[in-house]
Amino acid sequence: MIDSQNRPGTVGRVKEVTSLSNPLVKDIRALALKKFRDRDNAFIAEGLKLVIDALDQGWSIRTLVFAKAGLGNPAVEKAAARTVAAGETVLEVSEKVLGAITRRDNPQMVVGVFAQQLVPLASIKPSGDDVWVVLDRVRDPGNLGTIIRTVDAAGAKGVILVGDCTDPFSLETVRATMGSIFSVPVARASAEAFLAWRKDFPGLVAGTHLKGAVDYRSVEFGGRPVLLLMGNEQQGLPEELAASCDRLLRIPQAGRADSLNLAVATGVMLFEIRRDALKIDMESRT
Ligand code: SAM
Repeated sequence: MIDSQNRPGTVGRVKEVTSLSNPLVKDIRALALKKFRDRDNAFIAEGLKLVIDALDQGWSIRTLVFAKAGLGNPAVEKAAARTVAAGETVLEVSEKVLGAITRRDNPQMVVGVFAQQLVPLASIKPSGDDVWVVLDRVRDPGNLGTIIRTVDAAGAKGVILVGDCTDPFSLETVRATMGSIFSVPVARASAEAFLAWRKDFPGLVAGTHLKGAVDYRSVEFGGRPVLLLMGNEQQGLPEELAASCDRLLRIPQAGRADSLNLAVATGVMLFEIRRDALKIDMESRT
């Protein structure tokens, strides 16, 4: 059972909160802004399944927030017990407070505040047929979240954010990842740092470009690591990044649209690059 009395001897703390002016609630609501996420090195993830996945994958929880309706739900109580066991805080809140934290009318029953986690670029040493997606100045949180989710689904290794990108830990990005933020490593680098790191990259650096001369389906990707470079939504890949690519690939288009949406183009490329690695087991189908 959750101890909502905050009794002495409880390892962590469980508090009942109904007021929006409670300082703990104020701090969590502030995480909607990047400057406070950066200050606290924290972010918000919504939903019981996401919180459990994150805990299972070793992410550090700072605060678990749940609606009163969650009392008696064994999975909520287990997540709360794990948070308390980690010495962290559990808040039992009103729907109003949960709605204010998530900025939604129909909030999820559970929200977790987690410590941000990025991987250092220098620690990434691609080998085998590893695929990393490199995003140049991605601006749209929905695109970034969708790409992180797609990287996960395609079995690529992770994402390298180059230059001034949207925050991978914003509420909208995390929402769009549908939980993949917890399983896809993300690194951040300046264009200069990326170009220096790229010099030692042992595989194929494949850029995508509307002026690319090569059809993306004509390339043999297998058997070596691949860096897939995707350009900014408005401007595409800048010259210095395009020049660092071994090949500039194009996805042929019909119709009047001048380009594909960034996340869609990334999905098309990833599933082509990973084509041989991904198979449906026909024998297990009924
Ligand atoms: N106006 C931008 C331009 O001139 O490049 C459009 C950028 S597009 C919305 C964003 C990124 O998606 C591009 O930089 C490229 O990486 C990728 N992309 C979109 N459509 C593509 C296509 N048909 N072939 C190759 N890459 C494409």
